Amino acid sequence: MPRVAVAGFQHETNTFAPFPTEWPNFQTPGAWPPYAEGAKAIEQARGLNVPLGGFVGAANGMELVPLLYAAAEPGGLVSTQAFDQITATLCERLADAGEIDAVYLDLHGAMVTDDFEDGEAEILRRVRAVVGPDLPIAVSLDLHGNLSPEFSELASCMTMYRTYPHIDMAATGARAAHLLMELLKHGKPFCTAFRQLDYIIPITAQSTRREPGGRLYASLDGLAAPDGVSSIDFAFGFPPADIYNCGTSVYACGTDQAAVDAAADAMLAALQNAEDDFDTGLTAAPAAVRRAMEVNGAKPVILADPQDNPGAGAPGDATGLLAAMLNDNTHGVIGMIWDAKTAAQAHKAGVGAMIDAQIGGQFPESGGPAISVRASVEQLSDGKFLCTGPMFGGMTANLGPCARLRVRQGAADVTIVVGSNRAQNADQAILRHIGANPEDFKVVAVKSAIHFLADYEPIAQEVIFSESPGANPCRIETIPYTRLRAGVRLGPNGPVYDGGADA
Ligand SMILES: [Zn+2]
Repeated sequence: MPRVAVAGFQHETNTFAPFPTEWPNFQTPGAWPPYAEGAKAIEQARGLNVPLGGFVGAANGMELVPLLYAAAEPGGLVSTQAFDQITATLCERLADAGEIDAVYLDLHGAMVTDDFEDGEAEILRRVRAVVGPDLPIAVSLDLHGNLSPEFSELASCMTMYRTYPHIDMAATGARAAHLLMELLKHGKPFCTAFRQLDYIIPITAQSTRREPGGRLYASLDGLAAPDGVSSIDFAFGFPPADIYNCGTSVYACGTDQAAVDAAADAMLAALQNAEDDFDTGLTAAPAAVRRAMEVNGAKPVILADPQDNPGAGAPGDATGLLAAMLNDNTHGVIGMIWDAKTAAQAHKAGVGAMIDAQIGGQFPESGGPAISVRASVEQLSDGKFLCTGPMFGGMTANLGPCARLRVRQGAADVTIVVGSNRAQNADQAILRHIGANPEDFKVVAVKSAIHFLADYEPIAQEVIFSESPGANPCRIETIPYTRLRAGVRLGPNGPVYDGGADA
């Protein structure tokens, strides 16, 4: 029975985020499982929608040697200290694992550190330094990986999520287990192919619940059907990353080089042919709020705030959408806004108190100024609750002290949910756990770009993607890249990047 060392180390890095990602962020990672070493790393993942959990569930016929699991909410550059500490522990445990036949790594694909533009390639270099150049290393990746040719060569085989919202994270880990078993039976390295697309796709155009994402991802199974192709995947990529290899890439592997190349070329061509079909789909926040209030129907209108999506590394405390709601006749709720100071103020004042609060605005340059409100404190929580939606169901969130506030101002009646640890609102439990039930509001505004669709679209009258300032720019042509490879188009049919303003 093959002995397989397994570990997870996930981070999606927004190089424009106005704060770093440090070691404590891996200890309290919002709704993700917290840092763990050894057996606990796989015990806590078992049964959850995370790749490591899926791999463990599908690893029949393997003896697993658990190393560690580390994940943080997306954010700014991973600090040298955090990266070195986690990779050193991973490599020490790997060196102590005894004789092993393979390694499985649950990685993201868009990690950038203080020192390394391609965090995952550096993880693989450090792991290869322990296990050598030939030991099979299977990797599963997020759909948002910004993958490099170097990285694809350091891995032996890879799988990637095929849904956005990512409801198939565990399934992707399970596919990695099957692929690794196939590779071990094959007994020699797979043939591989790696391709990069020549335009960047905006996050708000990437949902697989919309077109063309739905049909593009659905086409993968057919491309993997020919003999000699074991697996093919592509990653849409993560635009807010000022790195050379930012963007969409295709990876295929199998036993026949010509077949693998043909599959990768066909997928790349399909992506090139879909260029006209991607739509950023943003409506300016004031117009989005007005339209939401005009929609007929009993169900709430869901307003997304994609440019302040904590799940893409933005703080989650931008105030543009809240300002638009307070300036209109909105009956709505917005959350979760990352605001530990106001949460603490509400906890001190107690339920029923009126407080004068400054909401959000820690990073006014990217997300707008704090907003002064007079609010009633409606409900408080410690931010610990079980998630219930399709993506995070079963995971225990730890948002720290949270508060539900209510602001009545002019014709507006706006409920604000604030919390202390950053988290994307991709699960209704973030609102429900503190008594903000979506069905009680005309408008429900969420700090999320796409992931909210999995749990919120089924209860929505309509979904509107609003546009207000934030650190996750969704119009690619506005992103101030300096390190991107020249010749890439900034968005579908966008201008060609020429090497930066200084080039
Ligand atoms: Zn992702």
